[in-house]
Amino acid sequence: MGWFSAEISTMKDLFLHGLQDIYYAEHQIEKSLPDMIKKASDAQLKKGFQMHLKQTRGQIKRLDRAFKALKEKPKGTKCPAIDGIIDEANEIAGEVDDKVVLNAALIAAAQAVEHYEITRYGTLTAWAKAMGHSSVAKLLHANLNEEKATDKKLNTLAKTKVNRK
Ligand code: FE
Ligand code: FE
Ligand code: FE
Repeated sequence: MGWFSAEISTMKDLFLHGLQDIYYAEHQIEKSLPDMIKKASDAQLKKGFQMHLKQTRGQIKRLDRAFKALKEKPKGTKCPAIDGIIDEANEIAGEVDDKVVLNAALIAAAQAVEHYEITRYGTLTAWAKAMGHSSVAKLLHANLNEEKATDKKLNTLAKTKVNRK
């Protein structure tokens, strides 16, 4: 979508575009997590990724409900940011052959993903509230909280274990 296209004119359009952006992003994340699970050699990290894959599927369901509440059809719109984050992660992971270093690389990549999600869900929650869509805001906030908790867990795992190794 071009910067000056007329496709986004109202706040509602902008909000919907953001919802479609994160919908696309969550699907890309769902697709890439199995590969990260495979690559992780730390048991805790592997388990964490598995858990987040399940969570991600639940998050997609919440987004489906959010679209429904807005009487919109759930759909995604290409998010170059998440594609870039995932591409970069794959590129770096492909260059690391030490298992321990790879775990550190996977955590760094996963945190970049979580931070993208946190910024999007933060904004979308605020916009949903501002527009009076409180049920949608609740759904988005639930996703936001899961991303924050995941980011925190990754931080702890890095600091207490993986980085030390
Ligand atoms: Fe997510
Ligand atoms: Fe995006
Ligand atoms: Fe996430």
